[in-house]
Amino acid sequence: MNIQSLLQFDQAHIWHPYTSALNPLPVYPVKRAQGVIIELESGEKLIDGMSSWWAAIHGYNHPQLNQAIQEQLKDMAHVMFGGLTHKPAVKLAQKLMEITPDNLQWVFFADSGSISVEVALKMALQYWQAKGEQRSKFLTLLKGYHGDTFGAMSVCDPYTGMHSLFSSFLPQNIFCPPPQNGFQDFNPQDFECFKELFYQHLKDLAAVILEPIVQGAGGMRIYSPVFLQKVAKLCQKEGVLLILDEIATGFGRTGKLFALEHARVKPDILCVGKALTGGYLTLAATLCTSEIARTISSAPPYVFMHGPTYMANPLACRVALASLELLLTSNWQEKVKNIEEQLSRELLPCRQIEGVKDVRVLGAIGVVEVSKRVNVAKIQKKFVAKGVWIRPFLNLIYIMPPYIISSSELSQLTTAIKEVLLEQDYAD
Ligand SMILES: *Cc1c(COP(=O)(O)O)cnc(C)c1O
Repeated sequence: MNIQSLLQFDQAHIWHPYTSALNPLPVYPVKRAQGVIIELESGEKLIDGMSSWWAAIHGYNHPQLNQAIQEQLKDMAHVMFGGLTHKPAVKLAQKLMEITPDNLQWVFFADSGSISVEVALKMALQYWQAKGEQRSKFLTLLKGYHGDTFGAMSVCDPYTGMHSLFSSFLPQNIFCPPPQNGFQDFNPQDFECFKELFYQHLKDLAAVILEPIVQGAGGMRIYSPVFLQKVAKLCQKEGVLLILDEIATGFGRTGKLFALEHARVKPDILCVGKALTGGYLTLAATLCTSEIARTISSAPPYVFMHGPTYMANPLACRVALASLELLLTSNWQEKVKNIEEQLSRELLPCRQIEGVKDVRVLGAIGVVEVSKRVNVAKIQKKFVAKGVWIRPFLNLIYIMPPYIISSSELSQLTTAIKEVLLEQDYAD
């Protein structure tokens, strides 16, 4: 198949994320990916600024991750998890319990991040049902993102999260404006507002659900650990469950293994995904406390009601174990710290450029917020011409590169961003 006909078929028949069938955004055919390089069919080599949406933290085509999958393949690719179990699942559950807060003692393996959020919401609902209380509302922050399935969507930002489109079908939840002042500064006013909503709806509240410290796809915002601490304390005081969604922030991205460590809080339910398998296969997990697991199981229907076909897929669990081993035996703290320092040095000065509204950096995440919505097709073409892979959305140009990126490669990413900003030709 030549590339022209591949592209023609793709544009005529295949959906891409959030894309039109009539006027699809251009796509770039990839031939292979190696380390931090994505190589296009055209031969162009792009430095990866996205880690394939937070996932490929060790870069592509990693020998140890490849080997883990190949070894697992000799035993089995998959078996159903109903009535069967296997070493990759048990070892991964043990590992996840080891590295997350010690109150989390039960693990549910889901097949994607969105599903792990559905599972978390269901756990909270079943928990209250089992306790004989009618609580079915979730309190969360505006500008949040928790996935694209209906339950997850109902706790996403109502404006960027398409609520108006599905309003007759979506559960109505409760939204609080997110903290305004970034990582360093805590404004007590932000928490007052949250507290007010919390008490206003307390008797209906099943849980609070938050992305800890960094709000990802809903706005790429960073907030103070003090806010998270206060939320956790309030939840604990009033017996409302706290769900933390670490799908984007987990596995070192913010400088801690999990972003909740910035605030030293313990959620009742925790979702992980994305980088869990190092970007190899789709897998997520929802962890919960023994108290939740036991409560759910003590009242009709006496079981937790979820069970995906590919639950705890052995290939995915095995590569997740290998990815965790690779991460935990590496000097990831130092790497992420170095990336953070370099991003601060090279991106923060962009604040001086006309059209730039804000620049934010935490861990291996760099965000440039511009005042106008970017033209994705146009800006993407410019970035590809400069040899980098960066995919903005709305008015956010952001990077979260693989941790193995070298400082000169990272400079190429930040230089490309600076140049594109200075050219002043990225919006409609
Ligand atoms: C990506 C993401 C999800 C959804 O995960 P999928 O694997 O895309 O379904 C949920 N929550 C957060 C915070 C995410 O970043």
